[in-house]
Amino acid sequence: MNLFCGIDIGGTGVKTLLMDSERKVISTDFFLTQSINGPDVFLKSLHESIKKQMDSVGDVALLAAGIGCTGPVDINTGIILNAYTLNGLEGLCLTRAIEDELGVPVYIENDANTAHLGEIVALGEADPGNTVLVILGTGVGCSIRVGHKLFRVPGGIHPEIGHTSCGVSSDVTCYCGKNNCMENIFSGTAINRDAKRFFNATPEAVLDDCDTDEKRQFRENLVSGLFNMAASMAGIFDSKLIILAGGMQNFFEKYLMKEAQERLDLLNPDFGAAKLIRATLDTDSGRLGAAILAQEKLREAHE
Ligand SMILES: [Zn+2]
Repeated sequence: MNLFCGIDIGGTGVKTLLMDSERKVISTDFFLTQSINGPDVFLKSLHESIKKQMDSVGDVALLAAGIGCTGPVDINTGIILNAYTLNGLEGLCLTRAIEDELGVPVYIENDANTAHLGEIVALGEADPGNTVLVILGTGVGCSIRVGHKLFRVPGGIHPEIGHTSCGVSSDVTCYCGKNNCMENIFSGTAINRDAKRFFNATPEAVLDDCDTDEKRQFRENLVSGLFNMAASMAGIFDSKLIILAGGMQNFFEKYLMKEAQERLDLLNPDFGAAKLIRATLDTDSGRLGAAILAQEKLREAHE
């Protein structure tokens, strides 16, 4: 059986899988990143994770591997640039190290892009071609596709939206210097921070019991920020679909998405109307997208 390996490297954990040529998931595995232990320990854990799965499948031929990696990564050299979330692995040329281990071509992407590729496969024929995936987690990240292709800033830089305005201001200034950026209003960090300092409660507790003007204003800021972000992204990239992913996606779906969608539905369709959906594959899209990246890159290399 011909297989592709997908690897999703996060700050906390690494998710791996094997996928066949028909994009069916054959097996999955997980291990803790523990980047602080350094490259040798990390690569050993990764190798064991993949080898274990290949042994369990039996007669297999691995054709290529794809990696989705958190934070800044040079997709041309495969070098991890992130000293914050992958402390201990910065400077590691991950693609070459894994190529040496597995003996197959290895491709790497920002993890938002691999998650996006996984979600697009889940959409199937419903994929409109122009889509934005927004990662709502500790921070706010994104991946943008235009005309079925990943959008990059010239020079190959991954676009960042987290520190652009969402039209809502906070009395706290973000480390970027602004007080109205998305990360400062509706990242998981900001939502938890504000719920704690204004209400000494969790965000869920505040929104479950929204019975004061202050709580309603807290909710309004989040809905308004989400609406402004979606309308802006849809307007700039002609995106008809905004996919909400990341660790906060359940929170957004439960408390904020419906009302933001109602506001989007009132817009002129030519000026920022879009549909908000949550990630279909939950947090599993990264490793599937990484395997799809490997399959597509290998195909391109042979064309
Ligand atoms: Zn900021």
